Amino acid sequence: MKNEESHIDNDVTVAVGRDFPEIRDAVRSICADFPATYWRDLDERSAYPSTFVEALTKSGYLGALIPQEYGGSALPLRAAAVILEEVNASGCTASAAHAQMYIMGTLLRHGSEQQKRRYLPDIASGKLRLQAFGVTEPTSGSDTSSLRTRAERHGNVFLVNGQKVWTSRALHSDLMLLLARTSPLDTVARRTEGLSVFLVDLRAATDNGLQVRPIKTLINHNTTEIFFENLEVPAENLIGREGEGFRYILDGMNAERILVASECVGDGRWLLEKGVAYANTRSVFGRPIGQNQGIQFPLARAHAELEAADMMARRAAALFDAQQPCAAAANIAKLLASEATWRAAEAAMQTHGGFAFAREYDVERKWREARIYQTAPISTNLILAFVSQHVLGLPRSY
Ligand SMILES: Cc1cc2nc3c(=O)[nH]c(=O)nc-3n(C[C@H](O)[C@H](O)[C@H](O)COP(=O)(O)OP(=O)(O)OC[C@H]3O[C@@H](n4cnc5c(N)ncnc54)[C@H](O)[C@@H]3O)c2cc1C
Repeated sequence: MKNEESHIDNDVTVAVGRDFPEIRDAVRSICADFPATYWRDLDERSAYPSTFVEALTKSGYLGALIPQEYGGSALPLRAAAVILEEVNASGCTASAAHAQMYIMGTLLRHGSEQQKRRYLPDIASGKLRLQAFGVTEPTSGSDTSSLRTRAERHGNVFLVNGQKVWTSRALHSDLMLLLARTSPLDTVARRTEGLSVFLVDLRAATDNGLQVRPIKTLINHNTTEIFFENLEVPAENLIGREGEGFRYILDGMNAERILVASECVGDGRWLLEKGVAYANTRSVFGRPIGQNQGIQFPLARAHAELEAADMMARRAAALFDAQQPCAAAANIAKLLASEATWRAAEAAMQTHGGFAFAREYDVERKWREARIYQTAPISTNLILAFVSQHVLGLPRSY
């Protein structure tokens, strides 16, 4: 059995308690300007939280992971996780902007110096938004290597044809990171070969070979489907080497999972706080409902599970920041955090009784939002398949 813990250097400690307190306080103070009424209104209109994202951008937090030489603040991943956790724990929704933090990782790790100098400073300042990530397709789903969007080289351009689905924030992004097949499946030795990553300039491409259509969803996630018809992408927008894009994308997924795990913890804490407050104040049969163990125990269990998930997310971030193998920890953190959040969401809903269904309490909105984490950016089963195969050494199941 492989054990990532054995890779943790002695000097890497898994922090406990309220780490990065100044960042937490500063994020809380930004979020205080965006109360529940702001989010409720956006949810009803399926609108994008532009002013909130603008405020977060101005604070510089979305450039947290970009090195200082490219205009970012070069913070560790754990600090970025804390930022997103606090956003959600304040009742705001980090997913509107979280991708601006981590999608650039592929460019940072695998782009040319010229590409990095051209894009990263503007991404760090927020002048350019790179927060759309086109991987999932209607027919391939979780089986990424079977995706069908093709990018064929014609001189200095790649012609892109195909379709993506669930490309979130594409209508609120200047650039999109696109994964497309550049060599047909039957010409490559392994399915994961022959896929390439491109930076697509959405401003130039829209209605010029690319069309974006919003998808109506259970939650306000600004997600879309994207159609490509002979879209011309300049060859200079290819990131890294042609055919190696799958590996580049995988590289970025650990960071995404760790950050999403912390978002889950943040949402879970908000939901729990709401549940506990209501349990203490709502009186039925002449006493607070929170006096009943049937109300207390689900809240207490959710708290315990959130604490455990938080510890796992911290460990995964510590491994990542120490540049140690962290795929198992990142996946497990995301799995546990998504379930702990859901437990908290269910407990908050049940505690609120009928009032849980009233929009003005905001619990139903956060409950809906908490459900996504078990499906995206990777579904629970696919994490379990990863753990089975890569951690436990069981046969590959797919
Ligand atoms: C709101 C939202 C936002 C999203 N944003 C983005 C985005 O910005 N960019 C992007 O590229 N994608 C995005 N996604 C897509 C998301 O990553 C996928 O929905 C997710 O990976 C699952 O893929 P699928 O929906 O095709 O499900 P499928 O792959 O069809 O799977 C359906 C179910 O079957 C299970 N399953 C499939 N194969 C196996 C197996 N071998 N063993 C066990 N169980 C299996 C899955 O776990 C799942 O429960 C988003 C999705 C949503 C809903």
